[in-house]
Amino acid sequence: MTIYTQKPIGLLGGTFDPIHHGHLRLALELYERLELAEVRLIPAASPPHRESPMVSASLRLQMVQAAIQGVTGLTADARELHRPGPSYMVDTLTSFRQDYPQRPLCLILGLDAFTSLPSWHQWERLITLAHLLIVRRIGTLLPEIHQVRDFLAAHQCYDSADLTTQLAGRIWVEDIPPLTISATQIRDLISTGRNPRYLLPATVLEIINTYQLYRQKTALESKSSDLATPSHLD
Ligand code: ATP
Repeated sequence: MTIYTQKPIGLLGGTFDPIHHGHLRLALELYERLELAEVRLIPAASPPHRESPMVSASLRLQMVQAAIQGVTGLTADARELHRPGPSYMVDTLTSFRQDYPQRPLCLILGLDAFTSLPSWHQWERLITLAHLLIVRRIGTLLPEIHQVRDFLAAHQCYDSADLTTQLAGRIWVEDIPPLTISATQIRDLISTGRNPRYLLPATVLEIINTYQLYRQKTALESKSSDLATPSHLD
């Protein structure tokens, strides 16, 4: 059996509509705790499991890039923007595996996402392409749904060295103290004229203000605001 000793790359997909300090703390905590090579933040162009994002993929990528500028260990990855159709994670992992044939990969998933994994496109292939790094809020119970529980039991590992010595195939559960911030909360604050400052980086807020993002509640109206002339700065 081949033993791999390269640090794994962490992969955090999301809508990032917009990116906020909850995402960023999560990525940084995992980078440091699990000694990852880096954590890639991957904005979904067209997320298959939820309604359309409010803001174009290119602006969401721009916000991610602004949020992580100068931060060691965090990088932005644009590959889902270059792929038409739904942004299936199995396609993203396949693309990473082609780029990094000898590198352990860790797909980062919140417990909610992990619990609904069987609804994902070709979900059983994910673990053949990467490890799964499940983030559990302290005090939360692991899923009791049979299919997910059995899947976890079959793959869970208890020595984080396994994430380094194998390319894929293991599940690691990490307890992270929660930051109760969501993109929904930020969009709601902005659309009702309130100030989301301190929930997200100032550089991201600057982009939001420049392009007047999230001022309306619906994606259709906001799409046109993507094209608005930059104007207002806080
Ligand atoms: P929305 O409110 O629009 O549903 P969100 O804030 O949950 O968005 P996503 O882009 O859907 O953000 O999340 C991407 C990933 O980041 C998911 O795996 C999600 O579980 C995780 N995440 C989101 N918010 C937090 C947070 N506050 N703390 C830790 N992880 C988070």
